[in-house]
Amino acid sequence: MNFTGRARYQMFLTLIKVSIMLSTFFYCSEGIAITDLQRVSPRLIVVLGDLIENLHRRGMPPLKMTSIIRDKNSKIKSASRTHQEGRAIDISIMGWDVEEADDIVHDFNSKYEDIAAISASDGVPRLMLLHNSGYGPHIHIQVRRMEK
Ligand SMILES: [Zn+2]
Repeated sequence: MNFTGRARYQMFLTLIKVSIMLSTFFYCSEGIAITDLQRVSPRLIVVLGDLIENLHRRGMPPLKMTSIIRDKNSKIKSASRTHQEGRAIDISIMGWDVEEADDIVHDFNSKYEDIAAISASDGVPRLMLLHNSGYGPHIHIQVRRMEK
């Protein structure tokens, strides 16, 4: 797959903006600027589009984004710099069925292994990480840096 086409990236952004306007498939928690999506890796946009479609097909609630870009002064502690670098987003899984969440994480981790960020702890590429942090259960989605 070619993720780098500028036109395709713009198309995904437009699609996501329309989805938000409709508030049907996707929305952000309070204080999260949707325009920050313009600063993230195109790879994240592809994964996000796929995930929105997947949740819709499963009949699950709309995707709720809880974090996009975080600067280094953020009150929320991060294990990596992926949010600072525009390579990660967080989504809330509050109210999700646990088995369904595990299923989605497993599917996406195998499907996007080649663009997933490599975990510092064990050197394994992992697109999605299940967390239960201070701000509720969520999935951290992270991609690898684009090769120059
Ligand atoms: Zn995160």
